[in-house]
Amino acid sequence: MTEKIDTILTAAREHCAKVIKPNIDQWNENAKWPRDASDLAGAAGLTGLYCPEEFGGQGLSLGDGIRVYEELGMGDGAYAFTLSMHNICAYAACGFGTDTFKNTWAKDLIAGRKLANFALTEPQSGSDPANMHTRATVNDDGSYTVSGAKAWVSLATKTWLCLPFPPAPTDCPSGRSMTHRHTPSCPWLKCIWTMLLYQLRT
Ligand SMILES: Cc1cc2nc3c(=O)[nH]c(=O)nc-3n(C[C@H](O)[C@H](O)[C@H](O)COP(=O)(O)OP(=O)(O)OC[C@H]3O[C@@H](n4cnc5c(N)ncnc54)[C@H](O)[C@@H]3O)c2cc1C
Repeated sequence: MTEKIDTILTAAREHCAKVIKPNIDQWNENAKWPRDASDLAGAAGLTGLYCPEEFGGQGLSLGDGIRVYEELGMGDGAYAFTLSMHNICAYAACGFGTDTFKNTWAKDLIAGRKLANFALTEPQSGSDPANMHTRATVNDDGSYTVSGAKAWVSLATKTWLCLPFPPAPTDCPSGRSMTHRHTPSCPWLKCIWTMLLYQLRT
């Protein structure tokens, strides 16, 4: 694992020096997501940091991921944050999605060909996720209907996959909101990751 993180850190340093730093002023001026740059990040192995190696991910720990974002953040913090968001959402989908989902989409997410984000914040609640109004209900056929409004969703028009965060039902064994206590044994959490995946195609 030491060798792997060293290789990835070197790739992150190179990406920062050759891709971010020379172009950041132009990106800010254009006020658009630099898709060419994130494609290069994907080619360098920076868009599947936590994802399972069997799908082409790096299988790194969350702590190692932070070291990667520190390197990228030397060039630009917002760019580093956005890749961190993609990485954690790609991990949620590729680590906990259904087998069908993983077999169909994991490689595209890990390669950065498709980007992912999350929608937690709502117009009335940012730091206070317990005040979320979004609800997910189980339909008769086992599918889910999600209703509510989200705000401040980074890359909202650019990502292919968005993970919405609704509160869990009050009888969820891991707590009222899935954002509070994550336990893999919680059936509701499993449902969230496997079912509440929807696409924001642009
Ligand atoms: C550039 C950007 C990108 C973002 N991207 C995303 C995204 O991709 N997905 C997403 O879901 N959200 C995103 N957000 C939203 C972000 O997570 C929220 O802005 C954040 O959670 C803060 O919530 P808020 O803006 O409602 O502020 P508030 O929660 O209203 O907080 C306002 C102020 O009150 C303080 N405060 C809050 N609660 C307490 C407390 N209990 N005690 C003391 N002080 C308190 C805060 O520190 C802050 O100073 C993004 C925000 C920005 C600015």
